Amino acid sequence: MIEKFARKQCEGDHPCPRCGRWAMDEKPTRNALSRRADVYVCDACGMLEGIEDMPHNFKFPLSAWAIVKNPAAFGMPLQLVLLDRDSWSRPVYECGGWLYVDVDPRAGRQPSICTKQDNDFDGEPCAPLPEGTEVKFIPHRDIW
Ligand SMILES: [Zn+2]
Repeated sequence: MIEKFARKQCEGDHPCPRCGRWAMDEKPTRNALSRRADVYVCDACGMLEGIEDMPHNFKFPLSAWAIVKNPAAFGMPLQLVLLDRDSWSRPVYECGGWLYVDVDPRAGRQPSICTKQDNDFDGEPCAPLPEGTEVKFIPHRDIW
């Protein structure tokens, strides 16, 4: 996913995929090239990665990058991983530690994805995804 984003990075403005701050130079090549993935990061992140590479230092995992936690903010589809069905038989998905539910999982209908109240597996549907959010179902969309 990060590598797909790297291709988009040249077209238009995006926050730094590592820290999520709007700290990127508008010319991607004037930013730091990450040592972790083939993508540009802001100067501060480039420097931090350099420090991390010294012996015994903690390395910030890719899974903690801003883009992995909130791909939609980077114009990338939300990767919804199917978990199971909740007590209402609605399919529950997970992305970056957050639970989502498809409240209209009928075949032939557009998915209607909401967050779960309190991020609880059997919680009520809470906020709908912002309009235009792209989603990708992994491995597939669970439908009725
Ligand atoms: Zn950064």
